[in-house]
Amino acid sequence: MPTIQRPSWDDYFMSIAKIVATRSTCDRLRAGAVLVKNNRIISTGYNGAPPGMPHCDGAAGHKMEEGHCIRTVHAEENCILQAAALGGLSTMGSTIYTTYAPCYHCFKKLAVGGVKRIVAGAIYRDPSIKEACEQAGIGLDIHQPSDEWLARLAEVFAAPIEEKLVPDQTPSN
Ligand SMILES: [Zn+2]
Ligand SMILES: [Zn+2]
Repeated sequence: MPTIQRPSWDDYFMSIAKIVATRSTCDRLRAGAVLVKNNRIISTGYNGAPPGMPHCDGAAGHKMEEGHCIRTVHAEENCILQAAALGGLSTMGSTIYTTYAPCYHCFKKLAVGGVKRIVAGAIYRDPSIKEACEQAGIGLDIHQPSDEWLARLAEVFAAPIEEKLVPDQTPSN
């Protein structure tokens, strides 16, 4: 049997961030993020309204202020806040995988939360995030998955999960 290539950690967590983004409720930007420490997920977040509050994709619609929708908590903020709410591992020294590089507001919160590396699928609006990360001593990598991994992912999602029963061990006679 051919050996199946395992994804790199960056490919692995970025793919999860993309799945998380599908839960987002603001169609102005569907973003997702995964907060990771020592290659383990601490929390996940997508942009959506706070618990119990109306979402952008409901009757209430967007809540616009100065050209931005402010109804949602951003994916990165939700990661930090969920880690706080769950009371699990400290976010100090963590890495965030996020579909888009954080806006400046989220960047500040990640810096205070002790995030040391940001892995993003693309820069969002503001290229000055690079300089901000340098100043704060936070690594910033723009990650593009390899074609091999994308092809593999398509296979993984196309294939159903099959039942794998242990063969009957009872003697036949
Ligand atoms: Zn919105
Ligand atoms: Zn943000």
